[in-house]
Amino acid sequence: CGIIGIISREPVSSRLVDALKRLEYRGYDSAGIATLEGGALGRRRAEGKLANLERHLAENPLPGTIGIGHTRWATHGAPTTRNAHPHATARVAVVHNGIIENFRELRAELSAEGYAFESDTDTETVAVHVTREMDRGAAPREAVAATLKRLEGAFSLAFLFKDEEGLLIGARKGSPLAVGEGKDEMFLGSDAIALSPFTDAVRYLEDGDSVILDHGRAAIYDFDGNEVVRPLRQAVGKA
Ligand code: GLU
Repeated sequence: CGIIGIISREPVSSRLVDALKRLEYRGYDSAGIATLEGGALGRRRAEGKLANLERHLAENPLPGTIGIGHTRWATHGAPTTRNAHPHATARVAVVHNGIIENFRELRAELSAEGYAFESDTDTETVAVHVTREMDRGAAPREAVAATLKRLEGAFSLAFLFKDEEGLLIGARKGSPLAVGEGKDEMFLGSDAIALSPFTDAVRYLEDGDSVILDHGRAAIYDFDGNEVVRPLRQAVGKA
């Protein structure tokens, strides 16, 4: 339901949670974040209110200077911790708004190749498909591009990769996603409200766009893979 992504030089976990609080107004049943801890994907998730996630994080802190977060409004799979986002494999973590209409077909295909699933969500098929492409030798960008070509439905997505401290990838089709530009840090968010404490320099992706973020740059590509420039909006003002 709500997406946030931060690529920074400073620890991100508390800012991820702060951004999720600003997305609470959309409604949600569970929440979670993932970061890179010395290159490995670390993840904390909790059912119910963000206070439950905060308590979990207080007891089990999550360091890391790059991460993604999500508030979930379940469409496929019960609102449990196990089904909460981010969904992850050893290679990639993903957060997702919307619905992957053809997830059953994708899941059957990946299961037949021996890939295991640990949730009942449509979202996990995206993480596993990216993993399959990387297992076949694709780089993260290529793996995401190949996966996006297969997805039907309305969605926005953010991806975080093992060992990639300087890479976040976002994509949207039918569900909004904004890119925020900071000073030596970059953001992804479902809307400018989520990003308003961090930056007021925001670009909205258009349908079919994907974005490759590093600390200093957001490279946006249209559905055909051409690099494009989307207008910079000065949001209402920093909170
Ligand atoms: N369809 C996904 C799920 O049920 C994402 C729902 C959402 O937008 O929060 O997990």
